[in-house]
Amino acid sequence: MPKFILNMIPVNEPQIAPKALKYVSDCLKSGWVSSAGKYINLFESQFSHFIGTKYAITTTSGTTALHLALLSLGVGKGDEVILPDLTIAACAFAVLYTGATPVFVDVEKDTGTLDPKLIEKAISAKTKVIMAVHLYGHPADMDPILEIADKYGLKVIEDAAEAHGAEYKGKKVGGLGDIGIFSFYANKIVTTGEGGMVVTNNRNYAQKAGNLKDLAHSKTRFIHDEVGFNYRMTNLQAALGLAQLEQIEKYIKRKEQMAALYKKELDGIPGLILPFEKHWAKSVYWMYALLIDEKFGKSRDKVKSLLFSEGIDSRTYFYPLHRQPVFKGLDSFRSSEYPVSDSLSQQGIYLPSGLAITNAQIKRVARMLKKIKALK
Ligand SMILES: *Cc1c(COP(=O)(O)O)cnc(C)c1O
Repeated sequence: MPKFILNMIPVNEPQIAPKALKYVSDCLKSGWVSSAGKYINLFESQFSHFIGTKYAITTTSGTTALHLALLSLGVGKGDEVILPDLTIAACAFAVLYTGATPVFVDVEKDTGTLDPKLIEKAISAKTKVIMAVHLYGHPADMDPILEIADKYGLKVIEDAAEAHGAEYKGKKVGGLGDIGIFSFYANKIVTTGEGGMVVTNNRNYAQKAGNLKDLAHSKTRFIHDEVGFNYRMTNLQAALGLAQLEQIEKYIKRKEQMAALYKKELDGIPGLILPFEKHWAKSVYWMYALLIDEKFGKSRDKVKSLLFSEGIDSRTYFYPLHRQPVFKGLDSFRSSEYPVSDSLSQQGIYLPSGLAITNAQIKRVARMLKKIKALK
């Protein structure tokens, strides 16, 4: 009897706020099911209030939010965008949608985020934007990135898809650069099922993103001067998003408790390098992401498969972009090697971290890791 399948601990199980049903059925009853309706406005205004930016524009996903952010900054054919080598492929795909070229830069060992010390070497006459990614809930080191951008006249996009509510030197991420983006996929801290948001303090960028996501009508509706997109979020999704956003402080607190409990259970085990916060950071521990090195005695992949056979799901870190078949042949490589990204990608794993996880489940994961460590 495979009883472990019955109480499998998923890597991420979302928690749906009690008010979601009320808000969504309100949309259904009112007939406002498409992209007009009060929940779009409420979700956008409360989200921008939460992040502390003047504007927030809903979109269909984090990926389309990245596309809109790049287009709003005028990125296109012949331009280059610098981004970290260790992130989701969507970051580089969005650059390619605009006709520009993604340029991969290695990451910092402690945080897995864009290494500011390596950016200048990757800048060329074509560089237009630096895209920083706040990885697994921990912010990138923004001040040096913003300084370099300033020095070379570049714009900065923050991908905060994994870091709703995380802080850099006391300020929420997403609003630190020229444009920030968020994803509301089911495993993100706030979800709309599928969805995304562009945030900015710049009125022109906000107008541009808002116009491009809705087919780019000119001043005269149905007369178009440029190519637009349909990246409109529905009122139904925004209703779910609003209900989730109302719980965000609770969700972030739960993520912190989860991380504290994992730390208490796993601290001091040789070969496990646990996540920590830089002194300038507040992490929201989107995922409890750790490294497994030689001292553990079993490889990361072995640990993952043993956990799985005990009914515990986990995920390995992102696969480095410089190794992705799809980017071969692009002018994306200013370096012949990406040692930090490679090593994090080989050693990194994240444990079950969903908002619905219980303390008992966290303890079971920790017990199992200790058992695996003790195996001969
Ligand atoms: C999830 C994610 C995205 C993409 O968001 P989608 O809503 O799935 O398109 C982009 N960047 C990062 C860092 C992500 O984690």
